[in-house]
Amino acid sequence: MQVPEKMHAMILDRPGRALEYREVPVAEPGPGQILVKVHACGVCRTDLHVVDGELPEPKLPIIPGHEIVGSVVRKGSRVESFRTGERIGVPWLGYTCGECRFCREGRENLCDRPLFTGYTIDGGYAEYTVADSRYCFPLPDRYSDTDAAPLLCAGLIGYRSYRMVDADASRIGIYGFGGAAHIVAQVAVYQGKKVFAFTRPGDLQAQRFARKLGAVWAGDSTDTPPEPLDASIIFAPVGSLVPAALRATVKGGIVVCGGIYMSDIPAFPYRILWEERRICSVANLERRDGEEFLALAPGIPVVTETEVFPLKDANEALSRLRDGKLQGAAVLAIE
Ligand SMILES: [Zn+2]
Ligand SMILES: [Zn+2]
Repeated sequence: MQVPEKMHAMILDRPGRALEYREVPVAEPGPGQILVKVHACGVCRTDLHVVDGELPEPKLPIIPGHEIVGSVVRKGSRVESFRTGERIGVPWLGYTCGECRFCREGRENLCDRPLFTGYTIDGGYAEYTVADSRYCFPLPDRYSDTDAAPLLCAGLIGYRSYRMVDADASRIGIYGFGGAAHIVAQVAVYQGKKVFAFTRPGDLQAQRFARKLGAVWAGDSTDTPPEPLDASIIFAPVGSLVPAALRATVKGGIVVCGGIYMSDIPAFPYRILWEERRICSVANLERRDGEEFLALAPGIPVVTETEVFPLKDANEALSRLRDGKLQGAAVLAIE
């Protein structure tokens, strides 16, 4: 396949600035890498944290984007997986060292020397990208390119957050009803759980959306749910939701913080944590999360709700996400 020398990409030169639409060289895949023609790339809240400077030390300049759906156009000399032309997904976890204590213990999501797509290596807000083939996934056929994109982070990391919840928990609160929540809610409802959705106060549209997906109750994040919760997952990057969720959670229940960034958690009385309630965070993903979730999603089937933007309008997509004005997930469609 003919690959041009240059491509268009949306580039972040410095956090706090808008992305710039520019022409840059198409990268050459290294021996273990594949060159991918990007068809679609999801816009994740983590991209917003990178762009807004809430995550330390991004590679700069950086091409954001880690929910990449594309096809393999060229393979490095050592790549044996995937066919040229095959459709694949590139997720957030772009590389792990394989040698540190965490890698050796099979906890690669906690690797000491990882690389992350769209953060410390260039991502998918571009016409092409290179990726380490060992971290890419084949994608289920049932999804279009734009529908598959949100599965790759909102889906994978949402699923990992959901896995942290005890299997016998039946009443699950989800705080922040965006990309990850709308996917996790479908998995939970499918597994017979009662989902309670918490949105920004007054966001009736998101509450209707949550009920449409099977939530038994949807309300403001400041509301008390009609029943106590066995577990909560917080996707909104708002620290004050931690004590709010603890207050709604039964003895022995868990509050899972699913995001990479959260504003400070305000002080709270020990009695709302006591009785063996737990708080935990979720970091990154293991390849196993991707394999499990991508096998599960088409059977449910998880349906993704997307708003599609052209590559050039990535700044618009990010600002709609920042303002809570998206329903479901934003995806860039790339010609
Ligand atoms: Zn490692
Ligand atoms: Zn993400």
